[in-house]
Amino acid sequence: MIEINGVTKRYGEKLAADNVSFTVKAGEIMGFLGPNGAGKSTTLNILTGYLSATEGSAKIDGIDILENPIAAKQKIGFLPEQPPLYMDMTVKEYLYFVYDLKHCKLDREKHIREICNVVRLNEVFNRVIRNLSKGYKQRVGIAQALVGNPPVLIFDEPTVGLDPKQIIEIRNLIKKLGKEHTIILSTHILPEVQAICDRIVVINGGKIVANEKTENIARAVEGKRRMTFHICGPQNEVLKLLKATPGVSYAEAIGNRDLDSVAYLVESEENIDIRKPLFFALAEKRWPIIAMDVMGMDLEDVFLALVAPPAKATSRAKGGRK
Ligand code: ADP
Ligand code: MG
Repeated sequence: MIEINGVTKRYGEKLAADNVSFTVKAGEIMGFLGPNGAGKSTTLNILTGYLSATEGSAKIDGIDILENPIAAKQKIGFLPEQPPLYMDMTVKEYLYFVYDLKHCKLDREKHIREICNVVRLNEVFNRVIRNLSKGYKQRVGIAQALVGNPPVLIFDEPTVGLDPKQIIEIRNLIKKLGKEHTIILSTHILPEVQAICDRIVVINGGKIVANEKTENIARAVEGKRRMTFHICGPQNEVLKLLKATPGVSYAEAIGNRDLDSVAYLVESEENIDIRKPLFFALAEKRWPIIAMDVMGMDLEDVFLALVAPPAKATSRAKGGRK
């Protein structure tokens, strides 16, 4: 449904997108994951015809965005990073305006009402956009993308700047839309793509570094467990015991938070839960665990887990963490 081939965008010396290629199948929700400045917006702006590529091509449903921009754009609903809202219009005026802009042929009143039902904008339909909360503004941006009922939806960081409740609402909405659309969701938040997407394409420094089914990413993220334990007891002996416990692949003391206990970073072998064996081993010695914390992987860890063999990811942990 979406096909990007060797897209490169050069700004002077800088490659904002470097030979980017991927495809998204019809019905898929693809997560486009990468830190700030990775090249997500550049790629999406090229895909949607808002920006020209230095090299490469982008096709929507077989239609080249450069050769046939009008036909290609009709297939896409796009929510850019900065939604193109007219602050002085009411929601109704704005969506009618977008309807005209897109030369939409559907029954206007009915179509816009349906969109507002899906996106839940009915209660603010006649309000001026300027006065809406950020969450509502974002929904107006999504509504704008839905006008004309395009099969492909592209959302560039749709949850940035929203509060936690609004984030959940927008995520649920995207998930719902995913039942009937092909979607690209760009984000720098790993749990976001894990919660919503079928496939994750990771971009870093303008290059695609991974393209995996979400369950494979989850495995890379969860396979190796990294935990911190706060333990009361003689540091050297505790550390020796930690290292000797079966399933523990790595342990180090990372500091005292108080006089009584020491914090340890402990990594376990793949798919082994070391919490219970450690509890019993330490209890036998009468060295109490007073806190335990599972550390999630951050984006950087995920990159490493995906692009480097596991041994390397471990050696990084040994180098010490934040
Ligand atoms: P993301 O959306 O992943 O945060 P962008 O695609 O916006 O990343 O940017 C990728 C890189 O290209 C960044 O380093 C950014 O500074 C650079 N960049 C983006 N737009 C321009 C521009 N108009 N001129 C020069 N550099 C740009
Ligand atoms: Mg961006």
